[in-house]
Amino acid sequence: MSEFSIIEKYFEPLSKTGALDDDAAVLDVPQGQQLVVTSDTSNRGDHFVEELSPSDAARKCLRSNLSDLAAMGADPFVYQLNLALPKEIDEQWLAGFAGGLEADQKEFGILLSGGDTTAMSAGALSVSITALGLVPPGEAVPRGGAQPGDLVVVTGPLGDACLDRLRLPYPRTAIAPLIRRYAKASVDISDGLPADLGHICAVSGLAAQIEFAKIPFSKKVQEALRDGKTTPQDILTWGEDYELALAVAPEDFESFKAEAVKQGVEPVAIGDFTEGNQEVQVLDESGKPLSFQKTGWQHF
Ligand SMILES: [Mg+2]
Repeated sequence: MSEFSIIEKYFEPLSKTGALDDDAAVLDVPQGQQLVVTSDTSNRGDHFVEELSPSDAARKCLRSNLSDLAAMGADPFVYQLNLALPKEIDEQWLAGFAGGLEADQKEFGILLSGGDTTAMSAGALSVSITALGLVPPGEAVPRGGAQPGDLVVVTGPLGDACLDRLRLPYPRTAIAPLIRRYAKASVDISDGLPADLGHICAVSGLAAQIEFAKIPFSKKVQEALRDGKTTPQDILTWGEDYELALAVAPEDFESFKAEAVKQGVEPVAIGDFTEGNQEVQVLDESGKPLSFQKTGWQHF
């Protein structure tokens, strides 16, 4: 198949009519909105578990971008897709991949606006997505807005990705407007809670103390911890949770929680931001810091 027939058959249907016909996309940005732009690349072997179906591989790539938009408090708008395809990729794979994108476009309200498809004579499959989101001007939520006394809040249970490596993440797109309203700082948990919370601490110039016992875990994770099948370090530092870690003023937490629950998300306060040396401490039941050999997934 040629590049053009692949685009016409599999990707044109995912875009607004005609959006892929020209050399570049022309986008009407809704009045009174700012664009928020994020990119994420997944290479077969590193980020894909080999057994991921083409559909799930597509959804996982799109969802990791949607999670970054949600962290910024941005509503999904459009995305660009760059595919580098090795020889063994066939039409069946492409159909599955495009089908996964189509399902998630409907689920999360985003459209394809363009990209590039190239064939590789050597090398592994690489999928790169650049997603654009929208926020009212000045309302994007930074990493650097936390203040001493703010609560450390997570938007859902952590650690399931560590136990079940084929799990599809579920980005918190539904509560992006609430993130804008209530979160003073925000990050998505892609590399592991201590590492990602560490980004908020570094940019905000604060420390954070969290209580391990307050972190929400699914029943499966609780059992694995209890039976010694995993450790607090593994469960917190594997990454790919794609929940959000937030700084929320204590007086705002109950309102935030009440509104988030209506959207099917249950935020949990697990600790506090304090003055300090940009360190994240995870405290055990007796208040002693757990010591970890690493804080999160190492990319290099
Ligand atoms: Mg991120």
